[in-house]
Amino acid sequence: MAEKIILINDLRAPSLTVPARPEAPTGLLMDALGRPLHDLRISVTDRCNFRCVYCMPKEVFDKDYAYLPHSALLSFEEIERVARIFVAHGVEKLRLTGGEPLLRKDLERLIAMLRAIPTPSGRPLDLTLTTNGSLLARKARALKDAGLDRVTVSLDALDDAMFKRMNDVDFSVSDVLDGIDAAHAAGLGPIKINMVVKGGTNDGEILPMARHFKDSPYILRFIEYMDVGASNGWNMDEVLPSAEVVRRISAEMPLVPIDPNYTGETAARWRYADGAGEIGVISSVTQAFCRDCTRLRLSTEGKLYTCLFATRGHDLRALLREGRSDLELSGAIAQLWRVRADRYSETRTAATARPDAGERKVEMSYIGG
Ligand code: SAM
Ligand code: SF4
Ligand code: SF4
Repeated sequence: MAEKIILINDLRAPSLTVPARPEAPTGLLMDALGRPLHDLRISVTDRCNFRCVYCMPKEVFDKDYAYLPHSALLSFEEIERVARIFVAHGVEKLRLTGGEPLLRKDLERLIAMLRAIPTPSGRPLDLTLTTNGSLLARKARALKDAGLDRVTVSLDALDDAMFKRMNDVDFSVSDVLDGIDAAHAAGLGPIKINMVVKGGTNDGEILPMARHFKDSPYILRFIEYMDVGASNGWNMDEVLPSAEVVRRISAEMPLVPIDPNYTGETAARWRYADGAGEIGVISSVTQAFCRDCTRLRLSTEGKLYTCLFATRGHDLRALLREGRSDLELSGAIAQLWRVRADRYSETRTAATARPDAGERKVEMSYIGG
């Protein structure tokens, strides 16, 4: 019988240290490679109602899997407090994620709290959320009313049988499409649709997805299958390069490249030559974009991860719960960002991508995408 894998959530995460002379945020923090801190991704739960084969495979995330207890999660008040400090440090965009963020009870209350955070420039924060769409039809209106700007919805196939094979919980495409329409009707746009392409599994869905979302209000983005975590059995042979995605679509519906909206945009943009909208491709494996990576991730239990492929987080919750002041938290965060030198995707090799390479990489469902 195969040995059972038990994932332990990063028990050895180092504490963050508070500098001897705490410092107030200046609104601009640069890391060791000259990258500013602009985006904070906040994971609000490590649980999910899907078992996507590339993220939470059923064999690992089964009924015996040890999810975090409620007391370990950051409370909304704790999240709001640290988000406020991050915004003072120059963060302009907050993305709620998970697990499935819409499973977190009363999420609207957190959204309203985040919406009220003032920014140094006076410009409103960009407040967004990534979801599998399963609960969106029910929740879109309340999310908008609470102050959410927009949503990104994951959808890996249009064919029902293939979608069910990817989500592995028998969830239907039509329910996600209803969620997307409800979000659009509620004004949570522009809505992006993310499709992870797993070569040899759902790549036959690239053209049907492109045809479906062409000439719609939605921007479809194709994501290369990544070697995140240690449980999805990632294999380079299953990565379909974005260049091939663009080639396949362009052969039927010609595409032309367009400029990024801003520096650090993860997706390379293409528009249909006939003017019927655009697509994006996110090539984290074949065309790394670490050079412009301005993202920091806050895990469900309050650990900071300076890279999606990190093995260890830095325990911000410990500082929060031992009663540190805002100034002390601010100094600890500044110190962490200044020494950040992560560029995993630019240095990936077949050896680093192996699930058993060195320390176990943190799971995507735990720190959020
Ligand atoms: N549950 C929500 C969802 O699926 O949208 C939010 C969290 S999920 C971890 C965030 C994003 O990560 C999703 O778009 C998902 O498709 C993507 N993702 C998860 N595992 C991935 C992998 N191995 N490679 C590429 N993208 C992945
Ligand atoms: Fe859940 Fe999102 Fe991971 Fe799929 S990708 S298992 S929906 S957290
Ligand atoms: Fe950023 Fe790490 Fe991804 Fe590079 S590999 S883009 S540093 S999260």
